[in-house]
Amino acid sequence: MRKRILVIEDSTMMRRIIIKVLEEAGHEIVGEGRCGQDALGMYQELKPDLVTMDITMRGMDGITAAKEIMGFDSHARILILSNLNEDKYRDEAKKIGAIGLVNKHKTDLVLKLVEG
Ligand SMILES: [Mg+2]
Repeated sequence: MRKRILVIEDSTMMRRIIIKVLEEAGHEIVGEGRCGQDALGMYQELKPDLVTMDITMRGMDGITAAKEIMGFDSHARILILSNLNEDKYRDEAKKIGAIGLVNKHKTDLVLKLVEG
């Protein structure tokens, strides 16, 4: 089913790739941001069905932003997208209540979790 998605990722190139993968699967990108502060403001404004959240970003990181969002909307659906060295956050992602944590380069798995 088509979802309205907010993409938070600090790398412009990576953001382009994630957006392309999601759009090609038929989803609508309602907003894109590059730090945790963007995520908080845009989440409240746009009320997306789902957020893809980078971890390491300048300013507020994605784990902190995900915690904040879950704090004011416990039904928020947040998928944490990691790099190779970020699997250590898996337990924390689960504890926060995120949908999951998946390597951002495994696009098949990203889509599966977005649509699941
Ligand atoms: Mg990053």
